[in-house]
Amino acid sequence: MIKTDIIEKIRQIHTPFYYYNMEVLNATIGRCTLEAGRYGYRMHYALKANSNPKILKIISSAGFGADCVSGNEVKSALEHGFQAGKIMFAGVGKTDDELRLALNHGIQSINVESVQEMEVINSLASEMGVKARISLRIIPNVDAHTHRYITTGLEENKFGILTWQFDAVLEKLRSLDNLELQGLHFHIGSQITDLAVFKSLCERVNEINTWFMEQGYLTDIINVGGGLGVDYSEPDKCSIPDFAAYFGVFHDLIELQGHQQLHFEPGRAIVAQCGSLITRVLFVKEAVNTRFAIVDAGMNDLIRPALYQSYHKIENLTSTGEKRKYDVVGPVCESSDCFGKAVVMPETRRGDLIAIRSAGAYGQTMASRYNLRDLAGEVYSDEI
Ligand SMILES: *Cc1c(COP(=O)(O)O)cnc(C)c1O
Repeated sequence: MIKTDIIEKIRQIHTPFYYYNMEVLNATIGRCTLEAGRYGYRMHYALKANSNPKILKIISSAGFGADCVSGNEVKSALEHGFQAGKIMFAGVGKTDDELRLALNHGIQSINVESVQEMEVINSLASEMGVKARISLRIIPNVDAHTHRYITTGLEENKFGILTWQFDAVLEKLRSLDNLELQGLHFHIGSQITDLAVFKSLCERVNEINTWFMEQGYLTDIINVGGGLGVDYSEPDKCSIPDFAAYFGVFHDLIELQGHQQLHFEPGRAIVAQCGSLITRVLFVKEAVNTRFAIVDAGMNDLIRPALYQSYHKIENLTSTGEKRKYDVVGPVCESSDCFGKAVVMPETRRGDLIAIRSAGAYGQTMASRYNLRDLAGEVYSDEI
């Protein structure tokens, strides 16, 4: 629950806006750093989850590297304190300009997703007279058991290199002088809550790592991506993901060789729970079998429910009336513009403030101006 004294402070602010609880953010970063530090694991924050400058500065100053999926994310990471030597650039469709930018700044690694991309990077690097450090983004064929739109580790997905392509990849690699293989990269999906999935990942990574060693390639880095899920139903009780258990799985099962370093790319796990979308009730409307609370935030502000049928806990911050059920919907002209169905809330009236919780990841970064709506702003708990 958002604290009562805060509610008084935010009551007058123009809605909708993202509210970021900086205590939760700092505590999450602290725990992640502590648990990863036990094993010397390296963290690269996935910028696409939330790229607010203030949040990026906090994460970079905690020593994280950055995982970027566009040229602008690489630029943003550099501008907000991430060292070039700790920036990874992944993505299935990088443009030549984006690749040149990455090569120009000498970032840590470009994660390559196809043989054709290797050729393109090699020729750009040779034009620029540099060597490109690359990692191979590999599809380990591990099912993340998450929503199909956020599954990326299966052979039917568009991402990465498949195991049957390995011979061709190595043959190509031997023929390209401006590439240096630095790592093997795996990212199988997002919002993974079953640690057994990461156990399967470890087994596949071990097999694949061994195969590459047998071919004469011992890479410096094994990067197991992000994907650790958060508890959307209990944002207060479980505000910090169980990093100890998560890293423990890798510590128990992954077989690093020689000086290999293990890298992670958490996005959601770092920022989801610190953010809430705060919105105001415009109208309450009775309908057949249901009652709508129509709020001033829409799917353009937070698209996750419309895009992946995702659940967010919804709370009325200002009413203490008798509990009733509401469908909480936005003003956008789409029926999928619905934040929650049959949400139990105290009696809700025009003007009440509503919090849509766990919205710090893939909330503000996915916002659009659909319907020509204004973008929601942001409010930080340590600035009010
Ligand atoms: C999106 C993404 C991540 C972060 O995923 P989370 O589920 O937010 O932890 C990590 N690595 C890559 C390559 C990604 O595309």
